[in-house]
Amino acid sequence: MSQTKPELHRAVELLCGASFSVAMTGAGVSAGSSISTFRAEDGIWARFPVEEYGTAAAFRRDPEKVWQLFGSLDDELRRAHPNPAHAALATLEQMGLLGGLVTQNIDGLHQAAGSRVVVELHGTVSTGHCPCCRQSYRREDIPPWPPAPHCSSCGAILRPDIVLFNDIIPEQAFWHATQLFRQADVVLAVGTALEVAPASWLVMSAPAYGAVVILIDPDPPLKAQAVASVVVPAAAERALPELVEIARDSLGHHPRRPRQATDR
Ligand SMILES: [Zn+2]
Repeated sequence: MSQTKPELHRAVELLCGASFSVAMTGAGVSAGSSISTFRAEDGIWARFPVEEYGTAAAFRRDPEKVWQLFGSLDDELRRAHPNPAHAALATLEQMGLLGGLVTQNIDGLHQAAGSRVVVELHGTVSTGHCPCCRQSYRREDIPPWPPAPHCSSCGAILRPDIVLFNDIIPEQAFWHATQLFRQADVVLAVGTALEVAPASWLVMSAPAYGAVVILIDPDPPLKAQAVASVVVPAAAERALPELVEIARDSLGHHPRRPRQATDR
């Protein structure tokens, strides 16, 4: 019996009793796919200082330089595959225990694992655009770095559709995330340090809107522990598959009808 089994049983009870549940995922979910995290000691911001490489102003100042960051990320992301945490979250959705998922990750691995209702708060590397003429590009049409890729219409340097510091969160993603959270009576926060708004306050304010919070993280942030009803101090790729197994045992052969956001 794992040390976190009682907490996982309690989490399953809450998910099975929920009218609508939503997950918030962060870098900890993709860490099991060998994707670098941004904030770790040896993370991306340690190699590429955020002021020089990670802001909207840095891109305007020197897009070639910011492509050093995009390029190294892109190489890592093209090789990455979903891990058991992504698969478990997709399974929870199929079982009717998760109504949607809001992610801070830009890697597209939730969709690759089969999750259907996914809101990408910080954008995605799967598409890009020209900041001058606004032409959109699919990832497969953007030549791999180096060099920095140029717009085929106007020649400007392209940008992946990811949110940099001081960028505005895409309006539609923000609206959709807020809708999911305001409907939820259970929030599952996985692998997120909850240091960046609006993800942090969507989770932190959930109890004020009547939701209970389940927190899964090997190093659960103290401020989130304060609002969480259940804390599972474990890595996502270990805890979530176990949670799915407990849920399967609990539901037996009678999976719940998958819920839609409009059901409530
Ligand atoms: Zn252009």
